[in-house]
Amino acid sequence: MSDHDQIITGFALWHLSLPVNARRDHGIGSVEGAVEIVVLRLSAEGGATGYGEAAPWVVFTGSVEATYAALDRYIRPLVLGRRVGDHAAIMEDARAAVAHCTEAKAALDTALYDLRARIAKVPVWALLGGRCRDHIPLSCSIADPDFDKDLVLMQRLRSDGVAIIKLKTGFKGHRFDMMRMERLRADFAEFDIRVDYNQGLHHDIALACVKDIASFRPTFIEQPVKAHLRSLMARIRDAIEVPLLADESLFGPEDMAGHPDIADGVSVKIMKSGGLLRAQTVARMAAARGMSAYGGDMFEAGLGHLAGTHMIAATPEITLGCEFYQASYFLTDDILASPFPVQDGQVVVPNTPGLGIEVNEDALARFALRRSP
Ligand SMILES: [Mg+2]
Repeated sequence: MSDHDQIITGFALWHLSLPVNARRDHGIGSVEGAVEIVVLRLSAEGGATGYGEAAPWVVFTGSVEATYAALDRYIRPLVLGRRVGDHAAIMEDARAAVAHCTEAKAALDTALYDLRARIAKVPVWALLGGRCRDHIPLSCSIADPDFDKDLVLMQRLRSDGVAIIKLKTGFKGHRFDMMRMERLRADFAEFDIRVDYNQGLHHDIALACVKDIASFRPTFIEQPVKAHLRSLMARIRDAIEVPLLADESLFGPEDMAGHPDIADGVSVKIMKSGGLLRAQTVARMAAARGMSAYGGDMFEAGLGHLAGTHMIAATPEITLGCEFYQASYFLTDDILASPFPVQDGQVVVPNTPGLGIEVNEDALARFALRRSP
C-alpha cells in the first residue's frame, strides 16, 4: 500500500477560547478578552497526524459556532474513511456539502496538507509548488482605542526589528485617525506604514477621509468602505495616488473573477479563500491583472499563521509581507509547542516536515470550551 492510500481514521475537534493581552478595534467590530478558534486534528491509519486551524470572526467571515458545526456535523462524515491522497476530492466534497464557512474549509485543507507532508517527510510548502522565499516581512497592527498603549507597543516593535505596521482606522473618528497618523509619521519615521479601515467609513464621507489619510503617503489603504460598495471602491481608487487594497470585498477566486478594477491589490487570507491552494489562486489571479497581493490573516493562533506562512513561502505573487503578529504580540498563550518563528521582524519559513512545529495538546485541553470526540 502506498502512503497515499492510507485511510483517514481520526477527526478530532477543539473549540478554544484563547485569552488576549489587549483590546483591538477595527472598523467592523472589536475584540477583547479572548478570541475563539477551532482546531482540527486528522489521523491516518499509519499513525501520522495533521492539524488545521479555523479562525472565524463573526463580523467578518462567520461565527465560531457555524465553523464548528460545519466541521463536526457536515464535513466529518466526508473525511473519515477516505484516502489521504484524495485531498482534492475531499475538498470538493466539503465545498459542495457546506455553503460559506470558508474558515472550516481552510482548517480541513491545512490539516490535509500537514498530514500529507508529514507522511511524505517534507514541509507543506513543498506540496504547494516549492519555496520562493525563506523569510516574510512581518506587519503588526496598531488597533488599540487607547493610543498610549499602542505607543508602548510601537517601542517594542522597534526594538524587535519589526519595520511594518498597519494602522487600523475608522472606528473612533477621522480626527483620531489623523492624530495617530501624524504622530506615527513624526516619531516612527523609519516604519513602513499601511492603513486599514475594515469597512469603517460611511459612504457619505469616505472619499474625503481617505484623501486626507492618503496625504501621509501610506504604502496602501485597505477597504475603506463596506464590502459590497465595489463601485465606490473603484471611485476611491481613481481619486487617490496611494494604492487601494481590497480585503472584505474579495474573498475567493470567484470574487476575483467577478469584480475587476475595484482595487490595486488584495489581502489574501486562507480563512477567506477556504484553503491554501485557493489562496494561491487568488494571488495569481491578482498578479495576472496587475494587482498586488498581501498576506493577511484573521485573529489566528500560531497554527493558522503557520498555514499562511507555508502558503506565502510558495507564492511569489504575494509581495507585500504578512500580518501574522497575533501569536507573538496579541495572544497571552499560543497553542504551538515552540514559539511561532519571528526573527528581526521577519517570519522564518519552517523547513521541517508538515507545518514544521508541533501543536501543544496540553494547551488545547487547557483552553477548550468543548471538543469532539
Ligand atoms: Mg483588512
